[in-house]
Amino acid sequence: MSPSAPQAILRDVFGYDSFRGQQQAIVDHVTAGGDALVLMPTGGGKSLCYQVPAIVRQRAGEGVTLVISPLIALMHDQVGALHEAGVAAAFLNSTLDWEQTEDIERRLLAGQLTLLYAAPERVGTPRFLGLLDTLHAHGQLSLFAIDEAHCVSQWGHDFRPEYRQLTVLHQRWPSVPRVALTATADAVTRADIVERLQLHEARQFVSSFDRPNIRYTIVEKKDATRQLLQLIQREHEGEAGIVYCQSRKRVEELAQTLCEHGIDALPYHAGLPADERQRNQDRFLREEGVVMTATIAFGMGIDKPDVRFVAHVDMPKNIEGYYQETGRAGRDGAPADAWMAYGLQDVVNQRRMIDESPAEEDFKQVMRGKLDALLALAEATDCRRARLLGYFGEAMGSSEATDSIAISADPESASGPSGTYSRWHCGNCDNCLNPPDVWDATDCARKLLSTIYRVQQQSGIGFGAGHIMDILRGKSTEKVAQFGHEQLSTFGIGAEYSEPQLRGVLRQLIAVGALHVDAQAFNTLKLLPEARPILKGEQPVRLRAATAPAPRERVRKKRGERTASAPAAAADLDAAGQARFAALKAWRGEVAREHNLPAYVIFHDATLAAIAARAPQTLDDLHGVSGIGATKLERYGEEVLRVSTGASPTG
Ligand code: ADP
Ligand code: ZN
Repeated sequence: MSPSAPQAILRDVFGYDSFRGQQQAIVDHVTAGGDALVLMPTGGGKSLCYQVPAIVRQRAGEGVTLVISPLIALMHDQVGALHEAGVAAAFLNSTLDWEQTEDIERRLLAGQLTLLYAAPERVGTPRFLGLLDTLHAHGQLSLFAIDEAHCVSQWGHDFRPEYRQLTVLHQRWPSVPRVALTATADAVTRADIVERLQLHEARQFVSSFDRPNIRYTIVEKKDATRQLLQLIQREHEGEAGIVYCQSRKRVEELAQTLCEHGIDALPYHAGLPADERQRNQDRFLREEGVVMTATIAFGMGIDKPDVRFVAHVDMPKNIEGYYQETGRAGRDGAPADAWMAYGLQDVVNQRRMIDESPAEEDFKQVMRGKLDALLALAEATDCRRARLLGYFGEAMGSSEATDSIAISADPESASGPSGTYSRWHCGNCDNCLNPPDVWDATDCARKLLSTIYRVQQQSGIGFGAGHIMDILRGKSTEKVAQFGHEQLSTFGIGAEYSEPQLRGVLRQLIAVGALHVDAQAFNTLKLLPEARPILKGEQPVRLRAATAPAPRERVRKKRGERTASAPAAAADLDAAGQARFAALKAWRGEVAREHNLPAYVIFHDATLAAIAARAPQTLDDLHGVSGIGATKLERYGEEVLRVSTGASPTG
C-alpha cells in the first residue's frame, strides 16, 4: 500500500486500524474529487471524512483544504488536535492579531498548510477571496469542507446567515470539490442544505442516526432539581455531563444548587460575560467530571468525547434540538444517558412561546407540528429509539449500522392498542427496559373535557387546569363557590383520580391537540375539534400510568456485558493496570495543560486504558494501540513507557 493511500494515512497519522461505517466510501469519493453531502450522527467520525482526503490530496500536490467551521472558540482545539497528530494546520479568525494573521497567510501561500480553518464571515471578505484566488491560480486550492452545514438552513436549529454566502465558493471556483457535513438529519433541513449550498450534484452519504450507546429516558417532572440530583448522585458521580434548562435564571440557580450538593457544576448562557463563558467552557473541556448547566447557547461543536450524560430539566422545542443536544453524550461510544424530565408546564410554555412569537403564521404552524412530534415522543409508551429514528425517516432494524445493539421484534407488543405500539425493542431506552403500565384513561379524559365544556357554557369564560381539577375532584374552594361550580353535573365525579393522574391526562390531551392553553387569558383551557371524538367516546385514550419507575443500579455495572465493543476505559483493568491508568491520566493532564489543549486531544481514555492493559516494556509494545499515530508515538512514546512502567515496576 502506498504510504499516501487513505488507509495508510488513517493508520500512520491517526493511529486507527479501520474506517468506520461509511467513512471509507466518503473518503474515497472526496479524495477522487467528488462533491459530497455527509449526514452522520454526532460521534460518527465526520472529521476524518475531510481530514484524510485533505492529507492525501495535499501529498499529491493539490494544495490546501479550506474548512469552514462556525465556532471560533473551537478552532483552536481542532487545529491543536491536528498538530498533535503531526498535520500542518492553522486557523484564521478574529482572535489573531495582525502579525499572526500575516504569518499564517504567508505559510498558506508558501504551500506549507494542509488544512486551513476559517469562520464563514471571513470567506466573504475581499482579502480572503483574493488569497483563495491566488492559491487557485497556482493549482493549490484542493478542497472545501463545510462543517455544521445545517447552519445554512433556517429549519436547522443553528441558523447562521453568514453561511448563505458560502455559495460564493462554488460560483467562483467551480472546479474545487466540496464536502458538506452535518449531524442534522431531518428531510426539510437536508433539502434546504442542498438548495442553499447548490449541492444538487453532490453524492449524499446518509448514515444510520442510531446512537446505540445512548440510553433514552423521559420521566414525568415532579421536582426536577431533586430528580436530577438523584440521577447524578446515583449514576454519574464524578462524571462529565450537560444539563439543559430553558432560562438563564434557571441555569444559574441550578448550577448553584448542584454545587451546594458537592457537584462540580458551572453555568453557561448567552447573558454571561464572554470571558466567563469562555472560562467555563474551557474548564468543561479540559477538566474531568465537570457538569455544565446551560441554555441551548452551549454545545454546538463541543466534541468532548466523554460526556456521560445529557439531561433536560425543561423540554426542548423539537426533536431536532433534542436529538442534537442528547447527541453530545457518549461520543466515545461508551454507555451514556440522555435523560429528560417533562411536565404539563413544559407543554404550556412551549405552546405559548410559539403563539406569542412574532413569526408568520405558516412558520408557527411548522413549529407547532414539530413540537407535537416531540410531545408524542415524550408520551410514548413504546420504544423511544424507534420513534426517534422514525422521525428522521429511518426504520429501526433496517439501518446499515453493524455495531448497533441487538434489536428484536416482539410479536406481543405489535398488537398493542390503537396500533401505536412499535414492534421494536431496542433494549436501551426506559420503555424497553421498564415497559410502562398503560391505563385506560378514556373515562377520565371525558370527564375532564366535559367539565371544561360545562364551565365555559355556564360562566362564559375559561378556567385554568387547577380549577378544573378542583371541580372534578369535588373540592369546595373559594373560587368554586364564587362561580357556583358545585352545581355542575361533573362536580366531584372524578374524586377517585389523584391530582398527578389528572395532570398527566390534561398534559396528554394538550399534547394530542384536544385542548388549547390560552396564554393570553391566564392559561385557560379551551376545547379544540380533536376533543370531539374523545368526548363522544369514539376514541379511546390510553396513557402511561404515572408510576415511579424502579430505581436503577449504577449504569456502568449494569451495562458491562452488553457493550463489549465500547471502550471499556479502565473498568476491566486489574489493580496494577489501574495504577498505570491513573499515572497515565495524571501525566496526560500535565501535557494537556502545557499545550493548552483538552486532555482528550492528547490521548483518549480508551487509548490510555489500552496502554495500561498492555503494560508495555518497549516502544514496539505500543505499536497498534488505537489512537497512537506515528507522530504521537515519536513524541510521547518514551514518556508513556516511563510513566507506565514507573507506576507498576513489576509489570
Ligand atoms: P463527529 O464530528 O462526527 O461528531 P468526530 O469526527 O469528532 O465525530 O469523531 C468522533 C470520535 O471518534 C473522535 O474521537 C474520533 O477520533 C473517533 N473516530 C472517528 N473515526 C474513527 C475510526 N475510524 N476509528 C477510531 N476512532 C475514530
Ligand atoms: Zn427502546
